[in-house]
Amino acid sequence: MRVDLIMDNRYPQYIETIGYAADTVCLGLQSQGIPVQMAYPNSQTLRNIREATDSNGILELGHYYERQGRDRQICGAPDDDRTILLTPAALKRTSAGIRNCFGNSVERYSNGTVLGEGVASLSRYMHQQIGQSTGLAFTTLHEAGHLFGLYPHGNHCQCPTCTMQNEQNLTKLTSWETEQRLRTTPFCSSCSSNIRRR
Ligand SMILES: [Zn+2]
Ligand SMILES: [Zn+2]
Repeated sequence: MRVDLIMDNRYPQYIETIGYAADTVCLGLQSQGIPVQMAYPNSQTLRNIREATDSNGILELGHYYERQGRDRQICGAPDDDRTILLTPAALKRTSAGIRNCFGNSVERYSNGTVLGEGVASLSRYMHQQIGQSTGLAFTTLHEAGHLFGLYPHGNHCQCPTCTMQNEQNLTKLTSWETEQRLRTTPFCSSCSSNIRRR
């Protein structure tokens, strides 16, 4: 199992915030025994982001997943590679009626084929005075949890100190306490033991 964190480099003003979030995610996933690698998008991914972005700068997730999935097939990417895009762009997924979500991911298609693509957006945290990168790290680790097989059916963890809960409170999502927890114990013991580590 490996996850690539792709930092959207079309927005240089956010690279520092996104980079700090990626550092937190690396520590959190490494605490779970999951190897992580950070990268900027390759030319195919950049093209896929561009093609899936509408005239208002919103990333349409269905189009993005479709294009990334096609490239994974062409490149023969191993099924246990996961990719999460960290971006300042707002997100929508028209087919699911989702607008302006924190993040989203698809571990596998309904026919069982692995996709393994996630996206985490800084957009919802933009107006927070502090902790923007903590919020983005929370979203990224949450989507990583889904990509590793946790709560595949849209329900979430009930544990108040677990990244797999359906937390919406921006103050809590961006707090210093959350930052410390994400780096050391991002998932509760139940979620941690259920992560697919193959
Ligand atoms: Zn979720
Ligand atoms: Zn949990």
